[in-house]
Amino acid sequence: MKPTGYFTHRTCRQHEMGAGHPECPERLGAIEDRLLITGVGDALDRRDPTPASIAELELAHGRMYVASLRGLSDQLKDDVAAGGPSHAQLDPDTAINVHTWEAALLAAGAAIDATDAVMAGELENAFCAVRPPGHHACRDKAMGFCFFNNVAVAAKYALAMHGLQRVAIVDFDVHHGNGTEDIVAGDERILMCSFYQHPFYPEWPHSDAPNLVNVPVPAYSKGMDIRELIDLYWMPRLEAFKPELIFISAGFDAHREDDMGQLGLVEQDYVWITRQLKAVAQRHAQGRVVSVLEGGYNLSALARSVEAHIRVLADL
Ligand SMILES: [Zn+2]
Repeated sequence: MKPTGYFTHRTCRQHEMGAGHPECPERLGAIEDRLLITGVGDALDRRDPTPASIAELELAHGRMYVASLRGLSDQLKDDVAAGGPSHAQLDPDTAINVHTWEAALLAAGAAIDATDAVMAGELENAFCAVRPPGHHACRDKAMGFCFFNNVAVAAKYALAMHGLQRVAIVDFDVHHGNGTEDIVAGDERILMCSFYQHPFYPEWPHSDAPNLVNVPVPAYSKGMDIRELIDLYWMPRLEAFKPELIFISAGFDAHREDDMGQLGLVEQDYVWITRQLKAVAQRHAQGRVVSVLEGGYNLSALARSVEAHIRVLADL
């Protein structure tokens, strides 16, 4: 078997949104430490991503939006150089610092580079340990800690640049990937499957486009409930769709120990979900999976869950 790729970049740790913010650089440090101490990191093909190009971002985002975020970043750098405030706020919980623009390009670039390497057959599959996350980023709007929709950019890129006809996006973050939905709803080349705590953030009208398999679940649902729903709703659609490549919006904030949400998943549930998706990929997609970090805010639970997820991807 070919190796599992691990894409990350030190600049992704320089983006931060202010003291005490849960989407913090330490998240990547916790994952890194866990992979080191368990030896899992040794088995991975570690790669530095290259930044996404503007043209690549525009596969999923509006030209004006991309330009305005770049303008805001340039303005902030000037302001900081002149002794001004260190952050510019985009919404009550989403802000940029002087490293955000570069980190966001690298996060989207990691998903693209992972796609290229998996499609080239260099890697069996890949995990991108990147931030900022992406699944709340809409075509023309940053929100919920997200600026560019890393997974949606890479999915559109795979369709445009690798000539694929069908790609799946699977989102197991506790929050609804409203940004991904905003970008892919109605695109029949993409099947998006997700479950998410509901009602919950984000308050966002759900699309009923036929390429979306939305499974809202009530607070305090446990892993076994979620597994049943996945078997019932995701699996038949994934089997029928026969994706040529599977993207995972891998958020780990549905973990029982994560206070950001109220779901009850544990490491073994992430193992189970990853096994199901890997099996679909092996049946239809030559094993090709590109998994990209989204949420997960309890550092210990995040690190253990990512380790469990990667162990399945890498057959460890
Ligand atoms: Zn989340």
